[in-house]
Amino acid sequence: MNQNTFAALGLPAEQLANLDSLEYRSMTPIQAQSLPHVLQGRDVIAQAKTGSGKTAAFGLGLVNRLKADRFRVQSLVLCPTRELADQVARELRRLARYRHNVKILVLCGGAPFGPQLDSLRHGAHIVVGTPGRIEEHLRKGTLNLDEVNCLVLDEADRMLDMGFRESVDAIVSQVPKNRQTLLFSATYPDSIQSLSGRIMNRPQIVKAESQHDARSIRQHFYRFEQNKQRLTLLRLLLLRFRPESTLVFCNTKRETEEVADELRSQGFSALALHGDLEQRARDQVLVRFSNRSASVLVATDVAARGLDIEKLDAVINYHIARDPEV
Ligand code: ADP
Ligand code: MG
Repeated sequence: MNQNTFAALGLPAEQLANLDSLEYRSMTPIQAQSLPHVLQGRDVIAQAKTGSGKTAAFGLGLVNRLKADRFRVQSLVLCPTRELADQVARELRRLARYRHNVKILVLCGGAPFGPQLDSLRHGAHIVVGTPGRIEEHLRKGTLNLDEVNCLVLDEADRMLDMGFRESVDAIVSQVPKNRQTLLFSATYPDSIQSLSGRIMNRPQIVKAESQHDARSIRQHFYRFEQNKQRLTLLRLLLLRFRPESTLVFCNTKRETEEVADELRSQGFSALALHGDLEQRARDQVLVRFSNRSASVLVATDVAARGLDIEKLDAVINYHIARDPEV
């Protein structure tokens, strides 16, 4: 038997059956390293790249400790963007489906306030949201965190990059001190270290080295002489490899628009995704890319990082990210 089997964690049999039905046969490395601490109730800092299964690494802990008959918010998960919050909530619902009446609520900006108030009035066990909107609910007194016993910061480095530091501090100050705090981050800069120093209690630090699966991912580097060749090269690569779905990373919002426009004028079905788009427009772009009615998504890292997109054939770094960790 695989040594990284979920069975070693002491989870209820119903959850093990549920994981089996999700085809989670063994733990990913970051899950294997963090879950024993998470389930013991310790504070954990976990560093691992996108796609390494971080959601279940905290999600199994949240779902396991939750008291379903107590209709109060018991866990709060902060995410940098609404797309990520939606994705986390979806995964948590799958992890919680073996339990009855577990209510998971998403609270993000870009969505109307009213329906969120109604949902909050009906009560929720787990709230997943972006710092801005959560803070707004706290200010208005519409969200009560007095019974939160687990706080999760997902993609914490990205939240700090996006300027959410003060929001996060304001939110944390309203969560009871004797809580468990879990922090997930792809990178571990000083700002994360100081954040964890402020809000965590003797955290266990775990780190999973990224392993690109060499059997499924091939990497190429193309060198060219003049900047104006960049776009031509992109076009030629798309024509040569004909990937069904391609994600192109640019460093600026403006560039994503320019590259997408240019590709469209060359006959590609390309869409731009960046943080200045209205939430509705962003949702539409992602739906069209996911259902393959558009084949090229040109995005900034901030807008696209962490998204779990199935069957992506190619990722092209149009410009190399400024931060090599990214
Ligand atoms: P991260 O947050 O690290 O980017 P996610 O939590 O979004 O990663 O997980 C990435 C994908 O891997 C998701 O589709 C998820 O359902 C899947 N996954 C997570 N854990 C496992 C596992 N133990 N076995 C198989 N698939 C898994
Ligand atoms: Mg994630």
